[in-house]
Amino acid sequence: MAPATSTQPLVVLAGPTAVGKGTVAAYIRENYPEVWLSVSVTTRHPRPREVDGVHYHFISQEEFDRLDAEGGLLESAVVHGRASYGTPRQPVLDAIADGRLPLLEIDLQGARQVRQRMPDAHLVFLEPPSWEELVRRLVGRGTETEQERAIRLATAREELAAKSEFDRAIVNDDVRRAAEELVLWMRNPQRDES
Ligand code: 5GP
Repeated sequence: MAPATSTQPLVVLAGPTAVGKGTVAAYIRENYPEVWLSVSVTTRHPRPREVDGVHYHFISQEEFDRLDAEGGLLESAVVHGRASYGTPRQPVLDAIADGRLPLLEIDLQGARQVRQRMPDAHLVFLEPPSWEELVRRLVGRGTETEQERAIRLATAREELAAKSEFDRAIVNDDVRRAAEELVLWMRNPQRDES
């Protein structure tokens, strides 16, 4: 077995729209306190039950642009052509330096930027059990308008095709099982190389 390293690779969880990345991330936040989950900034408005500083830092476009211009974001993207999202850089670097198990839950554009800027990052693709199931989840959520859903479906098709760019795929057939598979790997990333 390879010796334990003091720092853990940055893990990026991405995947198609509505595959359940947010739900898996929320399950990990609640059940695996040893995982350090990045809190993104976003310019979109909070949904009911979302807490500023926990689920996102909700900021204005002006604040977002300033943060980005100052180099404060590790990656950033406009998602679904609607709002800006980004990962604050320094907290990620601190979490890595502290030997935490760092996890980002972001979109594909962001995952590609992280791949370029931090080549050692490990990219995990969360995939649906099937396309039909993905559509069912997308429509079932009911938080978007018809037009927004159409945009999300188009984005999801493109995103599904990106699986080959990733280091690993996890099927989100069950939130708890998928979260467990991810965290088990994060706790012992060396086992792939042994
Ligand atoms: P939602 O608005 O539904 O919470 O998230 C919409 C999308 O934005 C999801 O695919 C989510 O993964 C992505 N997202 C959340 N935070 C970030 C971030 O910091 N950077 C990027 N690139 N995408 C993000």
